[in-house]
Amino acid sequence: MRVSVFGLGYVGCVSAACLASMGHEVIGVDVSQVKVDLVNDGKAPVVEERIGELIADVVRNGALRATADVREAIMNSEVSLICVGTPSEANGSLCTTYLERVTEQIGAAVAERGGRQTVVFRSTMLPGTCLNLLLPILEKHAGGTAGVDFGVAVNPEFLREGTSVRDFFDPPKTVIGELDPASGDVLAALYEGLPGEVFRVPIPVAEAIKYADNAFHGLKIGFANELGAVCQALGVDSHQVIDVFLADRKLNISPAYLRPGFAFGGSCLPKDLRSLVHAARRADVSVPILSHVLPSNSAHLQRAVELVERAGKRRVGLLGLSFKPGTDDLRESPLVELAERLFGKGYDLKIYDANVSLSRLLGANREYIENRLPHLAQLLADSVDEVLEHAEVCLVGTKDPAVVGALPHGDDGPALIDLIHLPDADARRTEPGYVGLAW
Ligand code: NAD
Repeated sequence: MRVSVFGLGYVGCVSAACLASMGHEVIGVDVSQVKVDLVNDGKAPVVEERIGELIADVVRNGALRATADVREAIMNSEVSLICVGTPSEANGSLCTTYLERVTEQIGAAVAERGGRQTVVFRSTMLPGTCLNLLLPILEKHAGGTAGVDFGVAVNPEFLREGTSVRDFFDPPKTVIGELDPASGDVLAALYEGLPGEVFRVPIPVAEAIKYADNAFHGLKIGFANELGAVCQALGVDSHQVIDVFLADRKLNISPAYLRPGFAFGGSCLPKDLRSLVHAARRADVSVPILSHVLPSNSAHLQRAVELVERAGKRRVGLLGLSFKPGTDDLRESPLVELAERLFGKGYDLKIYDANVSLSRLLGANREYIENRLPHLAQLLADSVDEVLEHAEVCLVGTKDPAVVGALPHGDDGPALIDLIHLPDADARRTEPGYVGLAW
């Protein structure tokens, strides 16, 4: 199939590269010329496992190219996947500005092209957004009737940054919210060959499933972290507790997200929880559990600050800065928040994250760091060793093997605060100066 993918961020560039590697002819579109140029040079605009090689391959064999020209992309495709961002507004509501803009642009190009285009929304959006907001925009600009002159579907994305290529080829499920059966058939054909169950549902159900997933993931992390903190206070090994808890398959518990570790963050869980709670409040629905997931997360982050205060040292190292291991994504990273809380308290901080450094070198996140984190940019070190030499106490928030391999043992270096339960945590726990966040 000939596919256009709008937005070459974490979701769009992975979808574009993976679809191209499945044999589809793909054009990626982005308003950022930096991202368009990176893709056309065969380079990934994000740091993710396997994405670099995949983009190099599919660009070399002509299956993927990128452009900033919406019209050109629509003229050369029958299916358009929309993967633009839907960040939080200041009051917690969902920002649909990018979705509205791209829908207008696609609608205008579809009017010119003629023939049946299937427009697929992959971005996360609250139930009702497609039918009540975007569909009228599309019909106005395309000059036709959705479901008759062009197809419309909602196809939420379940990839997790850090393992997104693997998740694309082995999805937990495929959800197709279809306006009409023909639109759903196009998506079913696009993903043919991928494993996992396919659910064909009405559009608002597809929109809501994504919120059910993300709210539950946040709840699981908060539950595991609170349990970890209580176990620690009572002198119980929370990881032993959770191992037995998870072994109880009769209750069908998936271990994903359910392990004491650090606070969650990133561009999805916090904003999706915020907009769900905001939508509930507007509808006068009381949601005490959901509205306390983010405060629980924030309290967990504060525990890490308290461990540093308890260590009584001023020179602090932080290893890892992206929102979780395996990505360069800094949006709503809990490690950024931790660095800011420590920086605000006057600690002498040095930070190292290999993926963030690499992405900064490529230029992909340079603008984000310069505009949003200028106060942290000056604290970024060039190597693990630079941080370890500087620090009297060092927080470890990454499982990057190069970092884990360089960590000192015993009295050989700074005291270590393990935020994420390192692979060798059990061996380390008797070492002087080593402390785990919640176990
Ligand atoms: P992102 O910010 O990394 O990428 C969005 C891209 O869209 C940017 O490169 C931006 O320049 C581009 N863009 C904005 N307006 C455009 C336009 N008019 N035309 C073309 N490109 C345009 O966002 P993301 O993390 O990939 O997330 C995209 C959506 O998918 C969001 O709704 C998010 O909630 C959802 N989602 C994200 C993840 C994740 O792990 N990141 C997982 C599942 C779902």
